[in-house]
Amino acid sequence: MKDTFKHQGLRQKLVDILIAKGITDKNVLAAINTIPRHLFMDSSFLDHAYQDKAFPIAADQTISQPYTVAFQTELLQVKPKDKILEIGTGSGYQTAVLCKLGATVYSIERQLELFKKTSKFLPKLGFRAKQLIFGDGYKGLKTEAPFKGIIVTAGAPFVPKPLLSQLAIGGRLVIPVGDEVQTMTLFIRKSEKEFEKHEFGEFRFVPLLEDKN
Ligand code: SAH
Repeated sequence: MKDTFKHQGLRQKLVDILIAKGITDKNVLAAINTIPRHLFMDSSFLDHAYQDKAFPIAADQTISQPYTVAFQTELLQVKPKDKILEIGTGSGYQTAVLCKLGATVYSIERQLELFKKTSKFLPKLGFRAKQLIFGDGYKGLKTEAPFKGIIVTAGAPFVPKPLLSQLAIGGRLVIPVGDEVQTMTLFIRKSEKEFEKHEFGEFRFVPLLEDKN
């Protein structure tokens, strides 16, 4: 598990690409500049780790494209100590970005293989989520609600109600909504009953799957 000058140089180039694509949040860019993305991927993909592309991880899933991670994280507006819920832990890369920003992170994954692998891997790199959960993200995490931010990293066919209801007042839900193609959507909770909705560009995610249990 090495991070070399070569990797650091490639990361700086990736950050330059993200800036060119419109990412401005300095803290998000700094997090991406320090997190060794190549270590979150299978070794055969090492050469690709710092291209702005999504790549396969275990269990037919993907590590999100860096631009997508940056875009979603920027929309969340994370501040240190904010309680954040992530749906779709996957490789743990997005989880690591949230940890790096100082958030108190809860993350849910429905694939046991990925849950186990990432639970072992993240602490090795020094990223300590408050809790990694094996479960169904459609339900959110009622016991720890309300959250300052909720980020969904799989394509949701609809907006799960529990995620909206588990937002703090002023809290933000960032969720790609759609079947084949998803519209990045931001909900801001204005009051108990009112939500402001903003829509951004189109993205492509692996699907948010409902548990059959
Ligand atoms: N943040 C991850 C993205 C992985 S892809 C990364 O950057 O690596 C999306 C992940 O969402 C997959 O790991 C998939 O198994 C998971 N997922 C899909 N449906 C889910 C659900 N209902 N609850 C929790 N996780 C889910």
